[in-house]
Amino acid sequence: MSESGFEAQRAVTAETVGATPEYEGGAGPLQIGGADVPEGARTDLLLKVSESYTGDRMSIPITVVNGVRPGPLLFVTAAVHGDELNGVGIVREVLNRVGPPDVVGALVCVPVVNVLGVQFHSRYLPDRRDLNRCFPGSPNGSTASRIAYTLMTEVISGADAGIDLHTAANRRMNVPQVRTNLADRRARELGVAFGAPYLIDAPLRPGSLRDAADREGVPVLTFEGGQALRFEDDVIEVGVAGVLRVMRHLGMIGQAPPPPDEPILETDETHWIRADRGGILDLHVGAGDRVAVGQPLWTVTGPFGRERTQQESAYDGVVIGMTTLPLVNPGDAVVHIAVPGLHDHAYSDEPTDEEDLDVEADADEESPRWWRRRTTQ
Ligand SMILES: [Zn+2]
Repeated sequence: MSESGFEAQRAVTAETVGATPEYEGGAGPLQIGGADVPEGARTDLLLKVSESYTGDRMSIPITVVNGVRPGPLLFVTAAVHGDELNGVGIVREVLNRVGPPDVVGALVCVPVVNVLGVQFHSRYLPDRRDLNRCFPGSPNGSTASRIAYTLMTEVISGADAGIDLHTAANRRMNVPQVRTNLADRRARELGVAFGAPYLIDAPLRPGSLRDAADREGVPVLTFEGGQALRFEDDVIEVGVAGVLRVMRHLGMIGQAPPPPDEPILETDETHWIRADRGGILDLHVGAGDRVAVGQPLWTVTGPFGRERTQQESAYDGVVIGMTTLPLVNPGDAVVHIAVPGLHDHAYSDEPTDEEDLDVEADADEESPRWWRRRTTQ
């Protein structure tokens, strides 16, 4: 695609968004997990969600920056997948930048949602459930379901908007991007305000935090940036700026980083290109590169260096994610391409981070135990 073609499809810039008076806000003096969260104070809480084998209390840390005046309630969650750490760094840095005197309304930060997964550097809970498939949860369900339920009732349901921070799944990377429901005007405006380079119309995944919040009328942005198990400064910087811009958009703070220089690229069409042959992978494109139909994306060679196949792009687009593993089997997802523009059909190819390759982890609550056990060996 030509340079001008790309520019024409970059329809929305951050400047086009105005203030949104509809965020009246639920904040003021708050109660979370039975604890009082007064106005004009920063309050650190521990929200009990489970117990260890030895009976110790297992809690999710929550920090509330409650402003001196009532206003919107924005939640920011990170590490719903326990190995996705950039969001932890984003929350930490946001909390360094905003204090109660600067804030109207309340910012509720949950930097480590999956406290059990984080202990083991794992995306999942100890029973291999994906927490981001268990929302809105139930007080009588699995461990994951109970954690989801507690977070829903104590934080998400009462919020005006939310940002859920993720990275790519293990052995993949994502260029910083926001995924949300672009048909929802508020979600789209928040996504534009965030100012990540890419704004993707992503279908709601049943059981995800974003889906459950949407059902409660709470618009949520899913930020995806970087790799699992890392703190990446450039990604964290995009995320921090994005959270602050959303707060500014909601009228919660007066100052935020300026909108990005580059227009935001909106898309509702992304495709994972998969390997047809197994072998050693040499990528010819990098994260954020523009690609054209017919352009070589990668070459697969055998262990003796003999070329086995070269894969060409079937799309004009931009590389928004890719594998970080130099080895492929046939069927492995290698390069994720976004086709710029809105085509009125949200289409996101598998696998995205929100839908994992690990099929057994997607097994729903009712799946028989023997099946899950057999497939996780
Ligand atoms: Zn994730």
